[in-house]
Amino acid sequence: MIEPSHASAGSHERYLGIDVGGTTIKYGLVTEDGKILHQQSVATTDFSGPKSAVQYGLEFARLTEGNLNHLAGVGLAVPGVLDTQTWSLKEVVNLPHWIDRPLLEIVQQETNVPSAVINDANAAALAEHKHRQLNTQTLALVTLGTGIGCGLAIGEQDLSGDHGCAGELGHVTVDSSHDASRCNCGKRGHLEAYAGAPAVVARAINAFTPWEREALPLSLRQPKIGTREIGVAAEEGFEPARQIILETAKYLGVAIGMMGQIIDPSVVLLGGAMTFGGNSRQIGRDFLSSIRQSVRESTLKQVGENLTIEYASLGNTAGIAGAAQAAQHKGREV
Ligand SMILES: [Zn+2]
Repeated sequence: MIEPSHASAGSHERYLGIDVGGTTIKYGLVTEDGKILHQQSVATTDFSGPKSAVQYGLEFARLTEGNLNHLAGVGLAVPGVLDTQTWSLKEVVNLPHWIDRPLLEIVQQETNVPSAVINDANAAALAEHKHRQLNTQTLALVTLGTGIGCGLAIGEQDLSGDHGCAGELGHVTVDSSHDASRCNCGKRGHLEAYAGAPAVVARAINAFTPWEREALPLSLRQPKIGTREIGVAAEEGFEPARQIILETAKYLGVAIGMMGQIIDPSVVLLGGAMTFGGNSRQIGRDFLSSIRQSVRESTLKQVGENLTIEYASLGNTAGIAGAAQAAQHKGREV
């Protein structure tokens, strides 16, 4: 286990944010205004399940602050489909001990402060919303990686839907032809089957097949390539790689346009592992402008031209901050 990192501590209320992932669980003590004072990361397999993970979080808070006197709330962010009637996980990969457990009840049993359980994409969306001081505006945070997720923050509230599936952007249909690519969920034509990282790699391998190995850029001569290598090749000027990335942007733009048309948000942010270098690389900037163009082409002027689409800014601490925020909101309700 990693030692907590210390930062300057003030005197007011603290919120414990716990961000659960398949590989690690991240803990953070967060101030009222969203600043993360201490954080720690522990392997998910170090815990037998949610109860011991929450107990550890409280111990972490106690050790870093000396006591729990200032602890005003505990928020738990979890991946997958969170049933908001029972506060249990219904569909999730890599967390066998967490599925179908009454998570909110477990957190409440361990602590006597206001508690919240929230989907991790929604938690990150809440944190980005606060960071940008959007107040009553609506923000969608689209995460690009193996899967395509989307968190929604409407004003200061997250939107999870009646069955925990609001914002499942990866599973909107972008190709309705009968032989459309099959998605991981089993249905055909979903965005994830075209713009999820494995689909992007598969399309790229297919496009690069006619090329002699020696004619490919070095980054693409590895035995196994990923979206990072495709991005490097595109940045180096290999046109077929660039085309794959721009095609991916088009699919994403169509889906983001649909969402834009339905909920009319002010801001859509793009985060996750597949941003092709983001703002720091030309190909990342081109990817973003192609998404913007595709959104504008597929939406009403009033939607497309008023929608700010940018890369997310908070990175992988957004889940901790957002979980803490959810607990803070809960505290205001009681
Ligand atoms: Zn699907």
